[in-house]
Amino acid sequence: MKWLLRRCSRCGRYTLRTDSCPHCGGSVSVPHPPRFSPEDKYIRYRYMMKREAGLL
Ligand SMILES: [Zn+2]
Repeated sequence: MKWLLRRCSRCGRYTLRTDSCPHCGGSVSVPHPPRFSPEDKYIRYRYMMKREAGLL
């Protein structure tokens, strides 16, 4: 599962665009959840390992 949503740093709206905000033209960035549980980190780590191994 890829993280596709980006969030505009100017107007705060979400978009699938990766270059600029379609609403206001501001810069977009990947919104990070405020907290990760240890379990989330573990899942993300396993995902990265699988991806590096070419399983995905
Ligand atoms: Zn915007």
